[in-house]
Amino acid sequence: MNILLLGSGGRESAFAWKISQSPHCSHLFIAPGNAGTGEFGKNVPLKVTDFDAIRTFVLKNSVKMVVVGPEEPLVKGIHDYFLADPQLQQIPVIGPQKEGAQLEGSKDYSKQFMQRHSIPTAAYRSFTRDSLQEGLSYLSTHSLPIVLKADGLAGGKGVLICPTLEEAQTELAAMLNDSKFGEAGNTVVIEQFLEGIELSVFVLTDGHSYKVLPEAKDYKRVGEGDTGLNTGGMGSVSPVPFADEDFMLKVQDRIIIPTIEGLKKDEIPYKGFIFIGLMNVGGNPFVIEYNVRMGDPETESVIPRIESDLLDLLMGVAQENLIEKQLVISDKVAATVMLVAGGYPGKYLTGRGVTGMDNVRDSLVFHAGTELDNGVVKTAGGRVMAITSLQDNLFDAVQNATADAGRIYYDGRYYRHDIGTDLF
Ligand code: AMP
Repeated sequence: MNILLLGSGGRESAFAWKISQSPHCSHLFIAPGNAGTGEFGKNVPLKVTDFDAIRTFVLKNSVKMVVVGPEEPLVKGIHDYFLADPQLQQIPVIGPQKEGAQLEGSKDYSKQFMQRHSIPTAAYRSFTRDSLQEGLSYLSTHSLPIVLKADGLAGGKGVLICPTLEEAQTELAAMLNDSKFGEAGNTVVIEQFLEGIELSVFVLTDGHSYKVLPEAKDYKRVGEGDTGLNTGGMGSVSPVPFADEDFMLKVQDRIIIPTIEGLKKDEIPYKGFIFIGLMNVGGNPFVIEYNVRMGDPETESVIPRIESDLLDLLMGVAQENLIEKQLVISDKVAATVMLVAGGYPGKYLTGRGVTGMDNVRDSLVFHAGTELDNGVVKTAGGRVMAITSLQDNLFDAVQNATADAGRIYYDGRYYRHDIGTDLF
């Protein structure tokens, strides 16, 4: 079958690498892709939110499945668009419809969902411009630090952790009165700060049954030792040592099953990935957020550990027989080191020639922000490439991925040398 994969990051490179290995895959198209995805299929210059152009392409190229990498097309309703079109409605889209995508598109919606289904999460209240005064007095009774979240998609920037009451009050007013995060901040969720270690859990569901994919830990701060500004992610590892059987059983019983059952009870159809960002608070899992797609750079560590045919699993999602499919996960450990552009996550350099990919010894190279310029690979984004090594143990995975990251060169190249070392 012909597959169209939407997206252009390291996550989509890992998907393309895996899907292209499936015997069910005839032609893989990646829209728009990057300088690396062309190795696994054909890049096509389509915008992931240009549904009409996607429609034309899908019909012309006999595409039989659309796999959606990023959240934006889902929140904007690409799945609903397909279902509403007589010529497209038989073509499965992997990713939820607009309503299910609200689990990521609106923090207030997802908090209400968790509350309705007794899923453990931080205590919260939501406020709008009309209830700003109430919000300010609510803050004065709140324990410190205080977490403020813009309700809508804010490009990963809408969460503020305020150490003082004064800062929280100033920020709340800036979000609600001065539209600090634009429309995304028209509603603000104020929530309790959870102290613990974070974990990313990934679930694939056809709306009835589910499979738990390998879990991962990601490293968000730009600096070594988890310092400096937040980024889209500087690296990841899978599996995560503290996510042992006992802990994962709690995650399953308290979070995953109530989430799948909650979707059913609320009559929210859901076919796709659920990424549960959670905090381990003294051995108990609490949901920080849902995302309606895979994480990046977690995917680059998760996918290489899946031994089964991913496309076969996705066909199980489409045909609602996921329960009959087998998911085999490797015991090996994956570590991913992200190469980023000089200046990232601030203003960063682009258009720099990349060399050294052939020197990589024992890792997979997943392109992210790269493009081909007359056959030359050039940097074209903040996160440039993900280097993943799959080894028998965490130490070897980390050592190989970090050493291989150092074998790739471009002007301004930066990467963290300590990914995964906190887990040794
Ligand atoms: P989110 O966009 O919801 O993933 O939040 C971004 C980051 O903020 C998370 O990955 C956490 O590191 C942190 N965070 C969000 N909510 C909380 C919370 N209630 N307690 C502690 N940290 C949080």
